[in-house]
Amino acid sequence: MKDRIEELKKRFANELSGVSDQKTLEDLRLAFLSKKGQVSQLMQELAKIPNEQKKEAGALINSFKQEVSQKFDEKLSEIRKMEEQCLIDSTESYDESLPENIRRGSYHPISLVQRELEGIFESMGFDVEDYSEIVDDYHCFEALNIPKFHPARDMQDTYYLTTPNQLLKSHTSAAQNAIMYKYGKLLKENGRPIRAVFPGRCFRNEAIDACHENTFFQMEGIMIDKNISISNLIYFMKTMLSEVFKRDVTVRLRPGFFPFVEPGFELDIQCLICGGKGCSSCKNSGWLELCPCGMIHPNVLKYGGINSEEDPYEYTGFAFGLGLTRLAMMKYQVKDIRTFNEGDLSALSQFISC
Ligand SMILES: [Zn+2]
Repeated sequence: MKDRIEELKKRFANELSGVSDQKTLEDLRLAFLSKKGQVSQLMQELAKIPNEQKKEAGALINSFKQEVSQKFDEKLSEIRKMEEQCLIDSTESYDESLPENIRRGSYHPISLVQRELEGIFESMGFDVEDYSEIVDDYHCFEALNIPKFHPARDMQDTYYLTTPNQLLKSHTSAAQNAIMYKYGKLLKENGRPIRAVFPGRCFRNEAIDACHENTFFQMEGIMIDKNISISNLIYFMKTMLSEVFKRDVTVRLRPGFFPFVEPGFELDIQCLICGGKGCSSCKNSGWLELCPCGMIHPNVLKYGGINSEEDPYEYTGFAFGLGLTRLAMMKYQVKDIRTFNEGDLSALSQFISC
């Protein structure tokens, strides 16, 4: 038994010295320490030898087993260190002091205009609200005084989802009803006027050309209190536009039909690209429709829980729907609306906040 163990010791040492990876080491460990390994075989042989020799032989086997385990652990940690070092040596080295060449990202021009407008309206006491892009028929149309089958729906051909009654919102006005419910209690109990803007992405089934897109951005705004009139609307619109363009802009107000306002107007801005002479962006008219607006229709205030049936004029308010995409075109003199959605970084990354 003693000779047998000595011979196995030599064999183990010999084979161990040739091991240089974890897989071969594991194979060697199994050959000696597994249930069918050399040490287990020695233990089986122990049963066959005379009783008086068993104690000594048993001790020898145990010491051999410990020696194998210990050497195995040592080798394993040696291999792991070696592999770690290989990994370190193989990584790319670089000089931290070299100047970088990193192209920084930039905000989309529509985001820039949106943020600027949010800041202007916040400074005038407006809350900025967010609203879902998927809405139901009631909020997008019926709550805005556009009943089912009303011809006014033809102006806003949008995308209907396969889920019944769900659609992609065709205008940010779809949030009006929800916002009236959100702030109506504060208005009626605490006398806090409702002043909110809600920017968002809108969708319409449009034929795409230089001034029409199927996906565009608007910013809706409403103000509701007692004695709100058209003059309040004009004041806020003028203040906002002079802030955005940082110069005098020529605007005109003309009657416009929108079912959710009465009276309704179109606020047009003189084309800043051609100076009113006429170009492809303004369809050669010299004017761009920027902002449908008007006094909120009594039905819309009633559906929003603001006024009762008995007193439909207790509170009044104005609403406007700014075309954020149009505004960005004017502000940055972008001639083709498609530029905003094409994802061409060389075009989009040249705008900076101002
Ligand atoms: Zn023009």
